[in-house]
Amino acid sequence: MENIDWGTLPFGYFKTDYNVRCYYRNGKWGDIEISQSEYINIHIAATALHYGQEAFEGMKVFRGKDGKIRVFRWEENAKRMQKSCRGIMMAEPPLELFKEMMIKVIKLNEKHIPPPGHGAALYLRPLTIGSGPQVGVKPANEYLFMIFVGPVGPYFKEGFNPVDVQLIHDFDRTAPNGTGQYKVGGNYAASLQPAERAKKEGFATVLFLDSKENKYIDEAGPANFFGIKGNTYITPDSKTILRSITNKSLRQIAKDMGMKVELRPVLKEELKEFDEVGACGTAAVISPIKRIVDRDTGQEYKYCTDGKPGPISTKMYQTLKGIQEGEIEDKHGWNLIIE
Ligand SMILES: *Cc1c(COP(=O)(O)O)cnc(C)c1O
Repeated sequence: MENIDWGTLPFGYFKTDYNVRCYYRNGKWGDIEISQSEYINIHIAATALHYGQEAFEGMKVFRGKDGKIRVFRWEENAKRMQKSCRGIMMAEPPLELFKEMMIKVIKLNEKHIPPPGHGAALYLRPLTIGSGPQVGVKPANEYLFMIFVGPVGPYFKEGFNPVDVQLIHDFDRTAPNGTGQYKVGGNYAASLQPAERAKKEGFATVLFLDSKENKYIDEAGPANFFGIKGNTYITPDSKTILRSITNKSLRQIAKDMGMKVELRPVLKEELKEFDEVGACGTAAVISPIKRIVDRDTGQEYKYCTDGKPGPISTKMYQTLKGIQEGEIEDKHGWNLIIE
């Protein structure tokens, strides 16, 4: 790993030494398998390929200046993986299995954990797929749960620098009573067209409105949305939003900073009342937003007019990163230290 420039590492796939896998067959989870292959051998009629039985997670592991390895809030990810599996009728990996495989894959790839100070981390990608065959539309009888890892840099090339976001009306990432609350590939398939179009039109990402009335802010592609108004942290509540663990952590950090927190429907008209806005998620942590453009009306909302992220977003970003990297006291017990 001597030749890696940790400071310019992109957020992308990176080949590492090992991944871990476990099959669910005949009603039970089997033994953990360690693999050096980047490929899986899959049945041509697997339900993951035909009917979208696929759920994933994304989490980060940090090496602190004290040399310790920290995993951030793993149990939240493990429980959300179970919820996603239940949501699309897949077998749920038990929490203990998740933990054991996670620790194994981190230790096996220890040399790929970036050193502190470059804004890089080891990204963990847990994945559950329907691997058993069906031709009729039915849940599979066999599932594969696996975790692969890779070092990553910031999600948006801007890092902790303000980005432009496009507010759109003509695409929905999920239906009002659909699968938005589950971390499943299908929601991402639905978001690819508007996301690629937004990039072509010069934006970092899209901001979706609620799919029923097109009145409320939903979320930003792969990240939740929040706004700061005075001393209040406001983030949309809706059952189509994926419950971000970063957002949950920021709500706690806001409370710890003495702020008020509101989790409620947010009308798009409120965009003009916010002092600061941002997108949040494991990959992006916080991406401050400097401009939101409504693609239909051309209306623009501007923030960070001095070109810098707002003071509250900055404080929250530094606090969250500080906890994850072991620089700030972890008073809520969010980190698991891997010995
Ligand atoms: C994963 C994800 C997020 C971010 O959630 P975190 O738990 O903070 O990583 C936000 N929105 C969607 C649609 C996601 O899939």
